[in-house]
Amino acid sequence: MLEKIVMSILILVTLGAFAFRVNQLVEFLRLGAAEDRVPTDWARKIKDQVVVVFGQRKLLQWTIPGLMHFFIFWGFVILFTTILEAFGALYVDDFALPLIGRWGPLGALQDVFVAAVLMGVITAFMIRRFQNPGRFKGSHTREAEYILYAIAAIMLTILLARAIGITVDNFPYDTAWTPFSNGVAQFFEGLALDTREALETTFIWWHSLIILGFLVYITYSKHLHIITSGFNVLFVSERPKGALKKMDIDIEEMSEDDTFGAGKITDLTWKQLLDSYTCTECGRCQSQCPAWNTGKPLSPKLLIMDLRDQLFAAGPDLLAAKREGDEQYRAALAKTQSLNPDVIEDEVIWDCTTCGACVQACPVDIEHIDAIVDMRRNLIMTESRFPREMQSALQNMETTGNPWGQPPQARVEWMQGTSKQEPLEVPHISEAPDAEVLFWVGCAGAYDDRNKRVVYDFAKLMQRAGVTFAVLGPEENCNGDPARRMGAEYIYQMLSEQAIELLNEHKVKKIVTICPHCFNTMFNEYPQFGGVFDVVHHTEFLAELVREGRLKPEVEVMKKVTYHDPCYMARHNDKWRGARQVIESIPGTEYGELHRHKHQTFCCGAGGGRMWMEERMGKKVNVERTDEALASASDTVAVGCPFCNIMLADGITERGADDRMEVKDVAQLLLQSIEFHPESGAAGGNGNGHKEGEDAGDKPPTKAQEETTDTATGPEDPQT
Ligand code: SF4
Ligand code: SF4
Repeated sequence: MLEKIVMSILILVTLGAFAFRVNQLVEFLRLGAAEDRVPTDWARKIKDQVVVVFGQRKLLQWTIPGLMHFFIFWGFVILFTTILEAFGALYVDDFALPLIGRWGPLGALQDVFVAAVLMGVITAFMIRRFQNPGRFKGSHTREAEYILYAIAAIMLTILLARAIGITVDNFPYDTAWTPFSNGVAQFFEGLALDTREALETTFIWWHSLIILGFLVYITYSKHLHIITSGFNVLFVSERPKGALKKMDIDIEEMSEDDTFGAGKITDLTWKQLLDSYTCTECGRCQSQCPAWNTGKPLSPKLLIMDLRDQLFAAGPDLLAAKREGDEQYRAALAKTQSLNPDVIEDEVIWDCTTCGACVQACPVDIEHIDAIVDMRRNLIMTESRFPREMQSALQNMETTGNPWGQPPQARVEWMQGTSKQEPLEVPHISEAPDAEVLFWVGCAGAYDDRNKRVVYDFAKLMQRAGVTFAVLGPEENCNGDPARRMGAEYIYQMLSEQAIELLNEHKVKKIVTICPHCFNTMFNEYPQFGGVFDVVHHTEFLAELVREGRLKPEVEVMKKVTYHDPCYMARHNDKWRGARQVIESIPGTEYGELHRHKHQTFCCGAGGGRMWMEERMGKKVNVERTDEALASASDTVAVGCPFCNIMLADGITERGADDRMEVKDVAQLLLQSIEFHPESGAAGGNGNGHKEGEDAGDKPPTKAQEETTDTATGPEDPQT
């Protein structure tokens, strides 16, 4: 009887402590900014729960750690029944779960999962102790080990309790179904009955006490994700992957005193705070981050952990002040540390290329980019504090409608071609309102000499295919992507609204572009402002023209080609097939993948507005990717993005490898296979007949080419 009273008190105290902490955590979330995350797409939500939470799909992308976690996760689900059995046995002799408690297959599952979880714990321990992959750098590794010990203790005590239960005939299942428990039971057979009964009580008590302690401990530890992961996945954004969150601003009404973005922890939304609870500190994001992998201070994992630490540090005082009244709350908020630079250095925020590798890798759907861009918005729009070299790009976008500050008239210069090419005649959309497509050239395509050649070749391909197309010419402006990703949302909204108005005015329905950034923002983000257009990237468009037989690649192009997937196509938009289909259609080419490709592609370093920022620390991201391309057996790296084109060409030059490898847009390779192409010197040539830059003219400034130290560790193998 005493035993039951003591256990009842312990259970009540534990549940009280658990409820107190859960309530506090919910109150902390309520300190965050409002955000509508009410699920609307239930089919997707159910699929996410099945695939991501219960199927552990993202974890299983890394086979060994994935399997380890899969067994531990499912072990906890299935062994919840054993926990109920253990507590039940403390109150009722011969306890069994109602309805299913004597069903042999359940006993078998429990047995198998006790063994599987123990195996999982041993594997996790070995990975941490002996392999110690870099992705754990900065994680609370000691805490993780305590948790592993606790899980092992829970499994061992349940195994012992089951085994001894068999020997005292207090076990609900037919032992034919429970070979592991039965095997362990043999060790106790020789003991006296009294001893076995005493041991049974002891094991059940140990098991119950560890469970109760564990229940409270997880709410204070990184294992909080056990409770929050399902919710985090449920409330993940329903926006397209490549779209940033819309910021509600009235450009006309903006004043000096307004604050924007996330300057304090409470400016982050409740979902962003929930993200911080849910981080498992697994470091998958860190291991894929181009900034971290090239020696920069940004780690998406550490960033999320820092936000969580700040919430836990500031949360209690803010909650207490909130209870006292608005004035007290405002005073407490004023004393709270700023997110940047107090909690996270500014440099960390600017290092991000918005490549999405972290979001892609995260097994619990944490949305790092939203938080980073919100902090950028605050730095730019409230604090006016940003890398000085961004100033001219932002000013240029505002005043001339392109980051390079080039005149609008120069947008059609590409039509002249090089000195070896005949000029092309492309109508303005007003002269060809029935054109099949509008060719959105983009700023890099219009103003950068390397890319002018790509634009020219792509236009030539469309002419060869008989596609009727037109351009906006000097009317075209930047689509706003760099401004948005830099955090200058007001410039983005100004540019996007202008563009949408112009496209609507010309009744444009289908747009083709050579730029993944133009594609992404027009396709995924313009709908936020009422601009819904059918947008297609040129690699997909060319693949379709080849499939339809409107383009027939016939001339052999004897090149060993690899393809660098742009993040904004492959990762943010799941589009990688078109480029490969085009390359594979070209006779003579030998195709090989880069080590990281498709969803796993590695950024060129230009995204997130970083094209217009200096890289002051570590190895340059473009050089890291170039090294990967140079390590392949290819002589040509094909690209489908004007920024990747510039970055990889710069990287090859920096590595002094211009004689070993060239960068070609997919369109340029295709054109070589379709007609005699003066750029290559001869049909079917090896591509060395003409060096890029011969007709360079006035090249707009690209990335600075300062010396760097190769401090990068290189990307981490996803199996560790
Ligand atoms: S988006 Fe890319 S660069 Fe930014 S934190 Fe994530 S992985 Fe790193
Ligand atoms: S943010 Fe996601 S991937 Fe990164 S450490 Fe946390 S749980 Fe792992």
